[in-house]
Amino acid sequence: MLTVTEARERILSHFQATTEETLPLIKCANRILAVDITAAHELPLFNNSSMDGFAIRAVDSRSAAVDSSLTLSVVADIPAGSAPTVTLGQGQAARIMTGAQIPAGADAVIPVEDTDFNSREAGTAAPQTVSFTRTVKAGENVRTRGMDLHTGDVVLRKSRRLKPQDLGLLAMLGIANVKVHKKARIALLSSGSELIEVDAPLTEGKIHDSNSYALAAAIESTGAEVVRLGVAKDTLESVTGLLEKAAHEKVDLIISSAGVSVGAFDYVKEVIESKGKLDFWRVNMRPGKPLAFGEYRGKAFIGLPGNPVSAFVGFEIFVRPVLEKLSGQLDGSRLTVKVRCGEEIESDGRESYLRAKIRNESGVYIAALTGHQGSGNLLSLVQADALLIIPAGVKCLPVGQEVDAILL
Ligand code: AMP
Ligand code: MG
Repeated sequence: MLTVTEARERILSHFQATTEETLPLIKCANRILAVDITAAHELPLFNNSSMDGFAIRAVDSRSAAVDSSLTLSVVADIPAGSAPTVTLGQGQAARIMTGAQIPAGADAVIPVEDTDFNSREAGTAAPQTVSFTRTVKAGENVRTRGMDLHTGDVVLRKSRRLKPQDLGLLAMLGIANVKVHKKARIALLSSGSELIEVDAPLTEGKIHDSNSYALAAAIESTGAEVVRLGVAKDTLESVTGLLEKAAHEKVDLIISSAGVSVGAFDYVKEVIESKGKLDFWRVNMRPGKPLAFGEYRGKAFIGLPGNPVSAFVGFEIFVRPVLEKLSGQLDGSRLTVKVRCGEEIESDGRESYLRAKIRNESGVYIAALTGHQGSGNLLSLVQADALLIIPAGVKCLPVGQEVDAILL
């Protein structure tokens, strides 16, 4: 049986990043950048004030002191967005607003709070003179041209997932359209004659299909699009019907849950093999041993286990990396950190992924399991913030033992 690492590598090698498209900036949040972004101009573009106050020549303020107030004549009023026309001479100041361009001659800004002009009301005209009682250093409260970045700087690298703040920076640089990777499209289906829709009344022996909700959300969390195809019954015809539907969709991958084990009604493997091929259908791990990979009518197929926790773990370990690769992303978005066992943890020797809650005790991360680790116990996954990775061959981890944890 394949190990987790072998299975993941085998799956990943079948995929490559989607092609690129150019989108208006507002559509680019969470997309993966397809090119390096270079600044076409420097930032800030011009020397500007970081405070509301008075632009001055720092040298003029040398004589100002607590017991010796300095008075300058105010020769201009510079609101944000205007281009100053004055050049400050000796003894002169200009009222200036945050973000407004520093006039020629000035090299510092004294904040309005530090002057005798303390009218804070909007619309107040600039005073004739302004006085203050401290010296001002050259450069004080001035954001100088190019201090943040220079023309030609690479500000964002290809393969980065665009964050809200990235969009802000792109806008600052006047980049209205961005080359990003296309969204991956994923067909999703469930299988099992016991499954009914979430809004259907529960009758004897039936349960709500929960996997397609958790998995659809998980797929979308990677930026991919989901085509939800519903539930197949445990019959050859029904499973074939849904897989045919999936094969006719324009999708990069078909994902199903359940029906890939060794039950008498597990038809998924058989149907996959009828019109495609099965690469493998088991992985040596817990939870989630029944995990199938192959293709159906030329489309990549991953069959996740049916048990809700197994389906989720299978998604995190095998599908999320695929979706990230498809989306063009370089680094995985899940962080693996070292934590310590807060209790003795038993395992069965298979590589195991256990649900745990992590707490911080004086800087040390301590993991506590969130209840029994049955693969149907979804609540224990809901309560977890990490999956502990218990390596193959390990049967017992003592209290205090260091272990890897995937943060959820
Ligand atoms: P199977 O892989 O078909 O043997 O299913 C394993 C377990 O997962 C059974 O208890 C199923 O009822 C359960 N199961 C399968 N599919 C789903 C689903 N979509 N939502 C919730 N539970 C499911
Ligand atoms: Mg079943």
